[in-house]
Amino acid sequence: MKISSIDVFQKDLPYSGGVYRLSGGREFSSFDATFVRITTDTGLEGWGESTPFGATYIAAHALGVRAGIAEIAPQLIGLDPRHVDRINDAMDAALVGHNHAKTALDVACWDIFGKATGMPVCDLLGGRTAVAMPIISSIYAGNPEDMRSRIAAHREQGYRSHSIKIGASEAEGGPALDAARIAASLADRKPGEYFLVDANGGMTVEHALRMIRQLPAGLDIVLEAPCATIRECQSLRARCDLPIIWDELALDESSITQIVANDLADGIGLKISKNGGLTRGRRQRDICTAAGLTLSVQETTGSDIAFAAIVHLGQTVQPGLLRSVLECRDMVSLTTADGNFEVKDGLVMAPAEPGLGITPRLDVLGEPVASYS
Ligand SMILES: [Mg+2]
Repeated sequence: MKISSIDVFQKDLPYSGGVYRLSGGREFSSFDATFVRITTDTGLEGWGESTPFGATYIAAHALGVRAGIAEIAPQLIGLDPRHVDRINDAMDAALVGHNHAKTALDVACWDIFGKATGMPVCDLLGGRTAVAMPIISSIYAGNPEDMRSRIAAHREQGYRSHSIKIGASEAEGGPALDAARIAASLADRKPGEYFLVDANGGMTVEHALRMIRQLPAGLDIVLEAPCATIRECQSLRARCDLPIIWDELALDESSITQIVANDLADGIGLKISKNGGLTRGRRQRDICTAAGLTLSVQETTGSDIAFAAIVHLGQTVQPGLLRSVLECRDMVSLTTADGNFEVKDGLVMAPAEPGLGITPRLDVLGEPVASYS
């Protein structure tokens, strides 16, 4: 089987909640999404998606996805898409880094691999667990009572895990506002709920330590991405007793190996496009498993095709280490594919159909913006 052509599609995904606010005054109302269709000489097709969270979240942006694909795609024509590690070797030989540009191509190859073997992607990735996976909300930074009410709304929908965003500037209210946001967000906490407190790298160590001192005693929280640099996160870890998860700084096998070697975190947020796709995600899952790090399988953001990849990888994480999967479809107001990914009581399981188990909506995706053959 050989790759005969690669088509690229682009859509804007409006944020479903209006304006999404992150630390540092970052605001997002729409996300520029790239989709890839790989066609083989047998007629089998596979699909993948890469949707960065704007251009100010990590070193990834939507125009870079499509520019990266332009560099890589011609080098993949004629290769066997089922040989996913060799596909990644070829992508690395064509373009150094820029993993977010490789993700859509990698995921499309896994989709074909599954269809070619009649197996769902999760089974090819190692086999499905029996666990129904909890979806996690994404609660943007706001005033404390507003965050509390948005968590309540998500709780009503079945969410048991919540990612609450903090990182207020001194002018906005600084550490005291962030402590109030956390206290309000956990005020109605129900048994079994899991709370990530995510600063998206937006705190100094000083800010974080001042905030922690203002928290009510005994709150069951996990701190995610507290600071922007490895040095700051390492310093904070030595000086506070909260569990710490890395996200923006856990980018690839190299950084995750460093986390393990230096005991820098208790878990990671594995975002498939940020971390380079399912082939790399599989390796990173295995490093975390060997080291006993927890995993939340997520995306920077994305629509139905991105969610399918999340669910298939999440479904293969050892149940004791999996904390959540991101229901990224709830964050955007465009449906790009159909599939059996129903969420019941805040839980989701991977479908049994071959490949990703999705049917893209071609009427939504429109005409390709680029094609390679
Ligand atoms: Mg995060």
